[in-house]
Amino acid sequence: MGNQSTNPTGHYVDGEWIDGRGSETFESEDPATGESLGTFHRGTDADVDVALEAATAAFEEWRALSHPDRAEYLWDVYHELRDRHDELGEIVTRECGKEISEGRADVTEAWHMVEWAAGNARHPHGDVVPSEIAGKDAYMRRKPRGVVGCITPWNFPIAIPFWHVAVALVEGNTVVWKPAEQTPWCGQVVAELFDDAGIPDGVFNMVQGYGDAGEAIVADDRVDTVLFTGSAEVGHEIASTVGGEPGKLAACEMGGKNAIVITEHADLEIALQAAVLSSFKTTGQRCVSSERLIVHTDVYDEFKSRFVDVAERIAVGDPLDEETFMGPAIEADHVEKIRRHNDLAREEGATVLVDRFDLEPSELPESPTDDVATADGGTTDGGAAGRGDFADGHWVGPFVYEIEYDSDLRCLREESFGPHVALIEYDGDIDRALEIHDDTPYGLAGAIVSEDYRQLNAFRDRAELGLAYANLPCIGAEVQLPFGGVKKSGNGFPSAREVIEAVTDRTAWTISNE
Ligand code: NAP
Repeated sequence: MGNQSTNPTGHYVDGEWIDGRGSETFESEDPATGESLGTFHRGTDADVDVALEAATAAFEEWRALSHPDRAEYLWDVYHELRDRHDELGEIVTRECGKEISEGRADVTEAWHMVEWAAGNARHPHGDVVPSEIAGKDAYMRRKPRGVVGCITPWNFPIAIPFWHVAVALVEGNTVVWKPAEQTPWCGQVVAELFDDAGIPDGVFNMVQGYGDAGEAIVADDRVDTVLFTGSAEVGHEIASTVGGEPGKLAACEMGGKNAIVITEHADLEIALQAAVLSSFKTTGQRCVSSERLIVHTDVYDEFKSRFVDVAERIAVGDPLDEETFMGPAIEADHVEKIRRHNDLAREEGATVLVDRFDLEPSELPESPTDDVATADGGTTDGGAAGRGDFADGHWVGPFVYEIEYDSDLRCLREESFGPHVALIEYDGDIDRALEIHDDTPYGLAGAIVSEDYRQLNAFRDRAELGLAYANLPCIGAEVQLPFGGVKKSGNGFPSAREVIEAVTDRTAWTISNE
């Protein structure tokens, strides 16, 4: 068991909290106020090296345990996630700015994943296969690959790490994990959960830091599998680095340019709900958020006027307030990235329908005055400032435009990862809708709204997607389903339950009984 983490908070390596070899630190920032939530040591190559050494040394003993024995540690984590659901949900919301219901949902999804992975420890793990030869028994067995390097994004800072780590550990691998630089407090909390569960030294390790720490994990020969979730730019770079190394594997889940198709047979109330939730919930910062609404000409005007009406009225709010629908963007750099996409749409000929991107001061929620916890275990100093001033947060509002479809338009092909939404009118049948829908390099999530089952079936069968929804928003995930995309969105190893494919090798095992 390690010592309690201190301030600045370090890495969790070989069962201990360590400060690391580097002298640099970085801050976690509350996106709603710009306030510091804590100071963390920035991991270096040397920190990754000691974490990988620990994970490599721990592997043989860990793999020798039975699946249910390994799962016991995960069950402890599961109970903590449930017991501390609201408290951890608040930390997620404080650190990544998403609405409190979504902060709690992040924790719920984490325990769902742990439940699936640990429960799976008592399920069959291979096949008995008929042999051509009488008296010979043949089996397909799975065995752990070894050391798994996990690299995760900020937008699901507790759920996504568990997609990776829970399955990797139960299957007998050891882990070195790097959380996103924006959410080190959540990284610390997850490591504390494993420490509290008494996970054997070296089995689970966490190194805080930036992309260079991630690069060091990817480049190291001791890593057998890299599990990455994040942007396509980084994911494809990792996949190509690892692809050249025999025996090593990278499973990368990446972004999307997702769309909802609203046909002439749509129930427009359902279409409106699906579009508003998919475009604006969590401020559009989900890999599955919708940035394109492809609407049949027969219902276009009515849908447009209803969608624009909602986009003009949506209020941003304190993410800790139960009533809030839309919180801030993650950080100043990200606000600028979304702004560049808005400008690109204008340059490419968009007619802007709603531009509330730069909110008026009167549209910001009132600054909070309450005391709240910080990452080092203290609280903010209260007083008039409370937990900070919302005027210093990274607030953005909806940006909605209409544009005539053209295959060359970058604004319809590149992910903004914000409340940036294009309305595209189409005329013709479902083939035309699918042609527009599929015309992006990505293939992650999408939805169709229609009451015509032939149109639904065409979308289900032909849309180039990993996650397809009918008469629903295109956001959401269930851990018992594969979660992943095609084309530029993935490299063939979906997340959640399918991670098992990336962290185990199959062995064909045959025994002669003669
Ligand atoms: P990101 O910039 O790609 O970062 C993801 C992780 O990779 C972070 O921990 C990051 O560290 C690290 N990293 C950066 N450069 C690296 C390198 N060269 N080598 C190794 N690791 C490196 O993504 P993000 O901004 O955190 O997250 C948003 C993106 O994730 C969006 O594109 C979204 O669509 C995607 N996403 C996909 C899914 C899915 O399941 N398909 C789910 C959620 C999010 P730093 O934090 O220091 O940059």
